[in-house]
Amino acid sequence: MILIKRDVIETIIEASKNTYPKEFFALLGSTKNSIVDELVVVPAIYGYGHTLIRSGLIPIDFNIVGSVHSHPGSSNMPSKADLNSFANFGRIHLIIAWPFNMDTIEVYDINGKKLAWRVIE
Ligand SMILES: [Zn+2]
Repeated sequence: MILIKRDVIETIIEASKNTYPKEFFALLGSTKNSIVDELVVVPAIYGYGHTLIRSGLIPIDFNIVGSVHSHPGSSNMPSKADLNSFANFGRIHLIIAWPFNMDTIEVYDINGKKLAWRVIE
């Protein structure tokens, strides 16, 4: 079970709405016990397709456990490009689809297998 802090989820939802129709991308960080409690917005090039990220710019002073990105469409299934990039950014990969709420979020492992997750306060 993946545990994600409520404020991280709320920030993802807000940022995805604000970035729409472009794609929002950030890294998921953890400061303790594998709980996802940090959202790390990294320098990136936002586009309608897939976000390019320069991994040399990722800060290294905390534990990055995965990534999050938004899909401007209604599918939150990982694309082939998503599956190819997941392994670069840790083991937990969250995709949020339009219209960007709790029900349009899925969490995947690096192989694109769905992971059970829940919000913690
Ligand atoms: Zn995607």
